[in-house]
Amino acid sequence: MKSYRKELWFNTPTRVAFVNITGQVQECIRESGIGDGLVLVNAMHITASVFINDDESGLHHDYGVWLEKLAPHEPLKQYRHNDTGEDNADAHIKRQVMGREVVVAITNGRLDFGPWEQIFYGEFDGKRRKRVLVKIIGE
Ligand code: ZN
Repeated sequence: MKSYRKELWFNTPTRVAFVNITGQVQECIRESGIGDGLVLVNAMHITASVFINDDESGLHHDYGVWLEKLAPHEPLKQYRHNDTGEDNADAHIKRQVMGREVVVAITNGRLDFGPWEQIFYGEFDGKRRKRVLVKIIGE
């Protein structure tokens, strides 16, 4: 069995952002030389997510609106977590809803997706450097 590890870095210009990372994950699979196996992709921060869904801008807008209703960024004082001096309680909650990681099958060296599936990095406390881990196992 072969194994491969890589960190992808992001620094989004906005506090909340959704980035399609499918091409970067596929490139990792190519680099790994693994044709048949599994790829794990996870956010390495507790205020960011990795998830799979459609690459459709209206949907991404809807996620932003829905998450902001669920866990509004302001007022900051509504959250006990922000009593620590942080301002990102909402980002922790948004990450919890959108998930930490995805696992995708690799078949013939390609992501073995269903229709319209794409992998996204979801940022909820951006404007700083953060990482995603890509781990691939297989042969
Ligand atoms: Zn925090």
